[in-house]
Amino acid sequence: MWSDLEPIGRSGQTGGYRRHAWTRTDHDLREWFVGECAARDLEVVEDRAGNQWAWWGDPDTTPGVVIGSHLDSVPDGGAFDGPLGVVSALATVDALRAAGVTPHVPLGVVNFVDEEGARFGVACAGSRIITGVLTADRARSLTDADGVSMAQAWRSAGRDPATMGPDPETLSRVGCFVELHVEQGKALALAPDGSDDLTDPARAVAIGTDIWPHGRWRIDIPGEANHAGTTRLEDRHDAMLGLASVVQSARSYAAGLGCVATVGKVLVEPGGVNAIPSHVTAWLDARGADEDAVRATVAGVSADAAALGAGTTEESWTPTTRFDPSLVSRLSGILPGAPLLGTGAGHDAGILATHGVPSAMLFVRNPTGVSHSPAESARAEDCHAGVDALTAVVTELCNGRTTTPMSDGR
Ligand SMILES: [Zn+2]
Repeated sequence: MWSDLEPIGRSGQTGGYRRHAWTRTDHDLREWFVGECAARDLEVVEDRAGNQWAWWGDPDTTPGVVIGSHLDSVPDGGAFDGPLGVVSALATVDALRAAGVTPHVPLGVVNFVDEEGARFGVACAGSRIITGVLTADRARSLTDADGVSMAQAWRSAGRDPATMGPDPETLSRVGCFVELHVEQGKALALAPDGSDDLTDPARAVAIGTDIWPHGRWRIDIPGEANHAGTTRLEDRHDAMLGLASVVQSARSYAAGLGCVATVGKVLVEPGGVNAIPSHVTAWLDARGADEDAVRATVAGVSADAAALGAGTTEESWTPTTRFDPSLVSRLSGILPGAPLLGTGAGHDAGILATHGVPSAMLFVRNPTGVSHSPAESARAEDCHAGVDALTAVVTELCNGRTTTPMSDGR
């Protein structure tokens, strides 16, 4: 499976993947998924967002256990983020059959569409649409860099955008969801003393506990345009110096409060090499394990920015997403000794968890922690440990007495 996927959507120049939703490349990946499922006698059904679900057993009789992830990528992404979860899910089906295990409750394998939001700007679009978090009207009108709307992209892919929308029927089939994913940091690749260590087999796979609280803020830094050659330094009001200080203060508050903070996008006006910047708009991304610490980081940056005359506007805020505690504790029982790990990255499992679907994640060790880059990696033995862990989990969840009871609010 891995070598079949390897060339699809890979850039010859960078070696990175450009697997964006509703493109020809995405179509090829979706066809690959259908083919792999057909080879296992699993029929694929699509929901009202275009997510693909393959069922072993009938989820309309009793809700099933779902495993899988996504096949799309960020621009110049790595091979593992997403596909590792889909390939591991299919390998789990194979492992169960090889062991003669037939699930007592239905087992589903899912390929979520447009998880990265690389083309239309909204991450986890597939799970957001079926849960209604992203309305069909708004989704249809999102546009890509070429001005193509999601509705037009759907039509080009042979789909009717009028059918897009919330899909409670699909969600009612999901008793619980366990998403296996490559780790996007290096917690599992470090020994307790902080040194690199890939030798501990007990740290090959971790159980996800929660998704960190995170948000985005826009900071508007004022200045005054003037000539870069004729204006004395003491007469300048340079918005770029304000940006430099905002970036430094983000770093120092984050370090002091145990968070991460990033200024990864800026807009400079007027944007001339020979003009003193009259205005800089900067976007701050801040995350951390603790909500109060993230809030305090942003409050500190925003107070420092205000002292420069800059205004801070919150553009989004997502509180901590906790995975289902009873599912997490069941996974801990099935995988004794597996580390428990929170993550700073968003996932479809988080969207489903917020919607009340009992969800959890498994993370496979990433030697360098690098992700969203062609350098993203995982060792073969750790990937196999991931399949073994997922197989153990599914065996227990599908053959235990019942699936995890659904939370209220479904
Ligand atoms: Zn992912």
